Amino acid sequence: MFCKNCGKEIDDKAAICLYCGVSTSESEKPRQQEATNALAIVGFILSFFIAIAGLVCSIIGYKRAPEFGGKGKGLALAGIIISAISMAITLLYIVILLVMMGSAISSVV
Ligand SMILES: [Zn+2]
Repeated sequence: MFCKNCGKEIDDKAAICLYCGVSTSESEKPRQQEATNALAIVGFILSFFIAIAGLVCSIIGYKRAPEFGGKGKGLALAGIIISAISMAITLLYIVILLVMMGSAISSVV
């Protein structure tokens, strides 16, 4: 087989590469498990600033959490809740603003 790090041919049974010392048993799987659920983190952060974007990212992050061994599930859930609350508050503000504008216009007319 060939070393993943330096590309030189090494013994099939060798635990480490004789040329660069990198472990040959290093498979792709543990790396994927170590990967962070970036979408959950991004969604959580975005939920404070752009509620809709945060909500979308959080939902995707939540759905993809099992791929990361459940990582970021809580964070994604928090992102969903925060963005939902901030969206509700924004909606409330719009409604209040419209009502105030409506009453202001009607008082003038
Ligand atoms: Zn090597």
